Order: sequence, then structure tokens, then C-alpha cells
Amino acid sequence: MTREQYADVIVDISHEKVDRPFQYRVPESLAGSLEAGMCVMVPFGSGNKLIKGYVMEVSSRCKFDPEKTKEIAKVADDGVAAQDKTMVLAGWLRRNYGSTMIQAVKTVLPAKKAVGRLEHKSLQRIMGKEEILSLLGECTRKKQRAKARLLQELVSQEEIPFEWITGKLGVSSSAVKSLEREGAVRVVSRRRFRNPVKFTERDSMLPVLSFAQQKIVDSVIADFDQGRRGAYLIHGITGSGKTEVYMRLIGETLKRGRQAIVLIPEIALTYQTLLRFFRRFGDRVSVMNSTLSQGEKYDQCARARNGEVDVVIGPRSALFTPFPNIGLIVIDEEHESSYKSESMPKYHARETAMEVARLHGASVVMGSATPSLETYFRARAGEYTLFTLKERLTGGMLPQVHIVDLREELRAGNRSIFSRKLQELLEERLKKGEQSMLFLNRRGYSGFISCRACGHVMKCPHCDVSLAEHRNGMLMCHYCGFQTAKPPVCPRCGSKYIMGFRAGTQQIEEKLKEMFPGVRTLRMDADTTRTKDSHERILSAFAAGEADVLIGTQMIVKGHDFPNVTLVGAIAADLSLCTGDFRAGERTFQLLTQAAGRAGRGSLPGQMVIQTYQPDHYAIVRAARQDYEGFYEEEILYREMLGYPPAAHMLAVQIYAKEEDKGMRLAELLAQSAKKTPVNLQIIGPAAASIGRINDIFRFVFYVKQQNYDKLIQTKDVLEKEIKRLQPKGETVQFDFDPLNVL
Ligand code: ADP
Ligand code: ZN
Ligand code: ZN
Repeated sequence: MTREQYADVIVDISHEKVDRPFQYRVPESLAGSLEAGMCVMVPFGSGNKLIKGYVMEVSSRCKFDPEKTKEIAKVADDGVAAQDKTMVLAGWLRRNYGSTMIQAVKTVLPAKKAVGRLEHKSLQRIMGKEEILSLLGECTRKKQRAKARLLQELVSQEEIPFEWITGKLGVSSSAVKSLEREGAVRVVSRRRFRNPVKFTERDSMLPVLSFAQQKIVDSVIADFDQGRRGAYLIHGITGSGKTEVYMRLIGETLKRGRQAIVLIPEIALTYQTLLRFFRRFGDRVSVMNSTLSQGEKYDQCARARNGEVDVVIGPRSALFTPFPNIGLIVIDEEHESSYKSESMPKYHARETAMEVARLHGASVVMGSATPSLETYFRARAGEYTLFTLKERLTGGMLPQVHIVDLREELRAGNRSIFSRKLQELLEERLKKGEQSMLFLNRRGYSGFISCRACGHVMKCPHCDVSLAEHRNGMLMCHYCGFQTAKPPVCPRCGSKYIMGFRAGTQQIEEKLKEMFPGVRTLRMDADTTRTKDSHERILSAFAAGEADVLIGTQMIVKGHDFPNVTLVGAIAADLSLCTGDFRAGERTFQLLTQAAGRAGRGSLPGQMVIQTYQPDHYAIVRAARQDYEGFYEEEILYREMLGYPPAAHMLAVQIYAKEEDKGMRLAELLAQSAKKTPVNLQIIGPAAASIGRINDIFRFVFYVKQQNYDKLIQTKDVLEKEIKRLQPKGETVQFDFDPLNVL
């Protein structure tokens, strides 16, 4: 006799309680064939009316009284084909990234929450332009910078949403109140974030596209109209006209009665960019960002579903906007790691966009100045069509880049964090009243050990990534768990200056003030950006000239234009080169290339200084020359040699446990059962994670490598079954395909 099976079914996907499925008995006729994601008809309520539902999970455990549990009537006639695209997508996420169906459904579906009082406050100008201008003059004289910034904006805008005032403009409510008292503005409340662009300010004339831009637009549209749905990569530096191409393509998409989704990483989603979209498309645009509440998100989705808007701009999750008939998905800055979800299912928006596009028959257009290896690899293989935009339309030259060898500095007796070149250039800027940016590309965990004399970095002999120093003094590999004692002297040159790098942003600020008394600094790092909007406030204060030097982590080099910045310094490029992650070279290249783009955006020529112990490393040399192709050629060789993505695929199986030994045992059991699958796999680990314990939860990880993604999915399925069988109590397991970060 077969055991009874039960299925969790959600009956109304627009209901707020999708996490409360109803349990039904699986009839014998369906035993073994019923799967999560399938659409079924079930009796519901006291009348037992048959309604449609979706299977979330099938198990052999009855949660209630078996006598009272109703039975599934049948699989819905319309079957898979007529299923809601959203549910198909949820099923795809579950299958491809490994999560429960509920987790997948929650990812694609905004929970229905009472929308409450939807209110967006905004500031309305009630004085005339002339009066505003004279008030602006007064505030500038009195050095009331925040008020001046706001007034400056009010010269051209009659109404400004409040969230922009406290956020992007960095103006406090006391400044607003004082302007209110002076009768310059009033606060108004609206039901909805209103399109800030008045009809008269809409674009009336579109710029004539350059030859290269036109060619992209023409080929994408020609493909679309001939029924070919492709994926396209636009490789072009910032200012080369990518956004203009996106907007033109969106225009063409709307003309064809289809909708468009534009993904932009939140950090790069500036007010200026949004205004461009509003100017072009007016009220048809809607923005999804993290400032929206659940209720507002739900409301936005309803508007998208009803056809009230047809362009949505936002980060990763905007991909799940329930448009009826998507024609185009744009992914700007496609290399950004924020496109990968960090909670289950750990999906990548780029891959998921391809599936959304397939379901809707849409095209996907990606853009980046430094494409991810994954995307460029596929473009090279002909899977994506590659376009290149070479010229900067905004003018401004690429900066002159100096690579400084820190080993030389030590030899010359300079033990300061600032090389002689950097000191000289900083002094020059301060004299001329130009601004500088100094950054530490510290990213995640980098407890690496290197030699200050010869630059030698301690690496894992098996994985070719940097080893990290642990509390017990051992050096450890984040992937395979290889351990070795920290050597007393450099194994290459015998120097005793072998050590970790510990300078933080705060220390840089202190040293800078010692070296240049009176220098005005702003600091942006995890400490100074804890509160909401502090990020934007620091950036806008810097843009307003309130400091000579902005010091920060890599967050300062992303997505902001400071025309007065003519010097950018990377204090220790090695920090991102030695993170113990196979993507370290790629990240360093991206970061340095982006940073170089920050210097000399205005009319003034810029310079950049890269300080490093590895001045010959290809990621550094190629970034200094802004040579993406050259970088790609070397990096892909490394990936191929060691079987890292995109040359192969990699699945991280992450185990979180309350008890250390139980966690390790589960990790070992799972690694064993992965080994037993008929698929030819390479298994690395298990090992304790790079940060072995967080909040009293122990973390273990092992990696599975395989050429073929589908075989990795099969492995995940085997592991899921094994986990179900073992029913661990104090341990949870997560899957991360082609992980972006070491755990
Ligand atoms: P990217 O997205 O690559 O950074 P943008 O599309 O923002 O580039 O273009 C950079 C600047 O050049 C913008 O100010 C934009 O308005 C302008 N621009 C873009 N295309 C054209 C064009 N064909 N003619 C004139 N100006 C253009
Ligand atoms: Zn050495
Ligand atoms: Zn290793």
C-alpha cells in the first residue's frame, strides 16, 4: 500500500496569505504525478465549490485531522499552458535556484497588504521664479548650503517630491520649515508619487542618434518585427549614449502596444536619470524602489496589471512587474552584483530576465562599460548580439592613470598610506581648489596576507585564490578549506614584512588631516551611512563643494557625477584583488575602471592614482588602460583553467546550523550524496564558511562544479530529496548557483 500523500495548495494568489496554504489529500489517481507549481481544482468553503489552486508542496505528513482533510478534485483542464505566467515563473525559480514553492511565489508576487493611507508629500513653490532666485542669492551669501540646494532645484521645478528632498538633495526638514515660514514653498500631500515633470517640459524633440546608436536601435527593432527575440549587449563607457538607446527602444516597444521593464541598480538610480524617463514618457512611467512600502508596491503592480502604466523602472525586483505583455527588458549596468538575490531563491535578475522574456516573447537589452564575464562570454559565443559604443558624447577626457608600486615606496622609506605621487597630486588639488576622492576597495571579507617587500600573496595551491587569516593564526581557503600556518617570513623573498592590510577609512581620514591640516573631508562608509538617506546626503554635500576630499569604501565610485573632481586615488587596490573569491580580478577591474571614470567628468582634465603591491597584475594594468577586451582575454583563461564560471558552473551548498558538529556532519552527508549521483561532478569542501559563525549560527559550505547547468540542477534535486529524508531540525540548507560571493 502506498502512503497517503498530502498537498499544500494556495487557492488565491492575490490573497495576502499566500504563506497559508490549505492542505488537501492527493487522490490515488494523482499519486506520484503531482508536483509543486501545478494548477489543480479543489473543493473550497462550506459549499465545496470547485476553485482553482496551485500546488506548493507535496508531502506525506498530514497537518490536520486526516478525516477532515478534503481531496483534490483534479488537475485543472487548461493545464500548464493557461497557467498564470507569474506562477510559471515561480515554478521556474524554484526549479532553477532551489527553494520552496512558497518562497518562489513570494518572490514574484507582492503580498497584498492593506494599502492604508497612501500619501506622498511634496514641496510646492509658491513664490515666483524671480523671488526664488533672489532668495537663493541670499542663502548662498549666508552659506546656508542646504537651503540653497533646495532653492536651486526650485528654480526649474515647481514641485519636488519630499523623498527627493530629504534623500537625493540631502536637505533636512528644518531647512524646509524655514522656507515654508518665509512663504517660498508649501507642503502638499498627494495620494501618489506624481510624475514630477510637467507636460510642457516633456521632450518635444529627440536627439538625432549617432550612427552607432542608430544601428543598434535598427537591428533590435528589425529582429523584433521579424519575430526574432534576442538578447543584446551594449558595451559602452558611461556617457556613450546607452540610455538614449534604451529610451528609443522603449518608445518603439510602446508603439507596438507592449510594455517595458528597465532594471537599474538602486545605487545608480539617480533623480536625473528618472527625470529623463519622465520627460520622455510622462505618466506612463512608474518607479519601483526600496522606499515604497509593501502596500505601495502592491498598488504599483495593480496599476501595471491594469495598463495604467507601461514602463517600470527599478532594481532587481521590478522584473516581476505583472505587465500583461512585456516587449522589452532593459538591464543597465548588467555586471552589478545587486542583480543577484541574497535570499532564497537566490536568483540572478539577468538569467531570470531571459525566462521572463521567453514567457512574454520579449527582447532583452543589457548595457555596461565593464560587462560581466558571464555576459561577455555568451556574447562572444554568439548567444547574445554584441554592440559597442566607443565615443563619449558628453565630452570630458579619460583621466591619466598612474600605477604606484607600494613596494618601491617601502624601499624609498615611505611608510605612509599615501604614496609620494598621491601626496603631490593631493596637494596640487588643494591649492587649486579642486576636489579629490580616495577610496578603499574593501569588499566583503579580505583578511589576506601579503609581503610588503615583494608583493607575494599567500594563495591556495588548489583553488588559486588568496588565503585568509583566521583568528587561530591559520591561513584558510574559502572554497576548499585548505589550511596552512602563517609563515614567519615571506616564502618568496624572506622579508619579515609579511602581514595583513588593516587600514580603514577612518584611519585614512586621520592621516590625511595630519598631512594637510585644515583639509575639509567627508567620509562615507558603513559607519557613516547607517541611517536612511545618509548616503545621499554625503554625496550631495560633496557635490555642493562642502569638502575637498571624499573618503570612502567602493560605494563612492558608483553612479555619481562630480564635475569638480579631478583626482581619484585607490589606496590599496590589493584589497579587492585578494578577497579569496575567484571573481576578485573581475571586481577589481570593474571598480578601478569605474573609479577612473569619476575623475575629469567636467571640463577639467582628471588624474587617477592606483596604489598596489601588484603593479603587474593584469586587472590593474588593463584597468589603467581602460582595456576591457585585454582584461577579458586574460581573465577567461584563468576561469577556464580552474573551471570557474562562466567556463563551468558552480553550485554552493550552504549549511546553517545551531550546533557546530551537527552542521559539519550534515555538510559531509550531503557532499557524500552529491558524490554518489551518476553525474560527473567535482566537489570542493565541505569547509567552515569564511565567517564561520554569525549570531550563533554556524555556517558550512561545499561547492559542486560541473560544465552543464542542468546537471547541477539535477544534483540540487537529489540533495533536496536527501534533505527531506533526513529532516534536519536545527539546520537549514540554502543553494546558491554560480555564487557571486564566497560564504
Ligand atoms: P550612457 O547611458 O551610456 O551613460 P547617455 O545615454 O546618458 O549615455 O548619454 C550621455 C549624454 O549624451 C546624455 O546627456 C545624453 O542626453 C546625451 N546623448 C545621448 N545620445 C545623444 C545623441 N544622439 N545626440 C546628442 N546627445 C546625446
Ligand atoms: Zn616577499
Ligand atoms: Zn582552496
